Amino acid sequence: MTDHAPVRTRFAPSPNGALHLGHAYAALRAHDLARDLGGEFLLRIEDIDGVRSRPELVEAIFADLRWLGLAWDGDVLFQSSRLAAYDEALEQLKAQGLVYPCFCTRSQIAAAGAQPGPDGLVYPGTCRSLSAAERERRMANEPHCWRLDMTRGVAETGPLVWHDLEAGDQPARPELFGDVVLARKDAPASYHLAVTLDDAHQQISHVVRGCDLFDATHVHRLLQALLGLPTPHYLHHGLLAGPDGRKLAKSEGAAALAVLREAGEDGPALVENLRKDRLPSGISRVHASYSLP
Ligand code: GLU
Repeated sequence: MTDHAPVRTRFAPSPNGALHLGHAYAALRAHDLARDLGGEFLLRIEDIDGVRSRPELVEAIFADLRWLGLAWDGDVLFQSSRLAAYDEALEQLKAQGLVYPCFCTRSQIAAAGAQPGPDGLVYPGTCRSLSAAERERRMANEPHCWRLDMTRGVAETGPLVWHDLEAGDQPARPELFGDVVLARKDAPASYHLAVTLDDAHQQISHVVRGCDLFDATHVHRLLQALLGLPTPHYLHHGLLAGPDGRKLAKSEGAAALAVLREAGEDGPALVENLRKDRLPSGISRVHASYSLP
């Protein structure tokens, strides 16, 4: 990303639960960075998880953001409108021999002695060495996902770096994740693939998001290099935690924005308080932590 590119940030919620105070904080950080730098703040709805995505929550997301006074620029991008682009990228990686079909179930992966990595178990590589004939045969009648051959991917790009506005330059370490899933059995693209493609498609110059996604950026940086996409700057901010000190979860109704909105609270005043770190009782801000060693 050159420093001359127009500044564009985004808020990219998944409509699988009601937005809460943590989302308001994430949205305001992305919104304010764009406004401070004279740029645009875009909205993307990450709605391709067929199992967890709930279309009725999309209107509530719009209502929450309007209530907060966080206006977005331009049209909303729905990931569900981008399936052809995800498919095309996957085909490109297939043609490069960088992905392979995997037929393993979760329990088979656990039973194969997979070790924990930054984002769940690191795939032990069972399906990587299947012959072309066996792949063809099993693909015809077994559900499968597509995994990135991480060793090949890393060999293809060589060392990579990305930049976090707070944490500084980061040598990319995607190999710690092993062969990540790029297209799922139950969804056309994994989070990693869809988010990388969409940030490039929306010409996002600064990806502002919670530090729980810091590690995932190592994978996104590799995908950018493999797919010939630009690399934005990143800012991974601290998260809001509840009374138990754990990050707020979508299931925690008390912090749900819709509850506060319907109770007649003042949205812009709430945003101003969050901006100034004046947090509602029981809520604290956990400073950004970057978990890879
Ligand atoms: N859709 C993701 C979420 O709701 C955020 C994706 C991102 O910001 O990269 O957690």
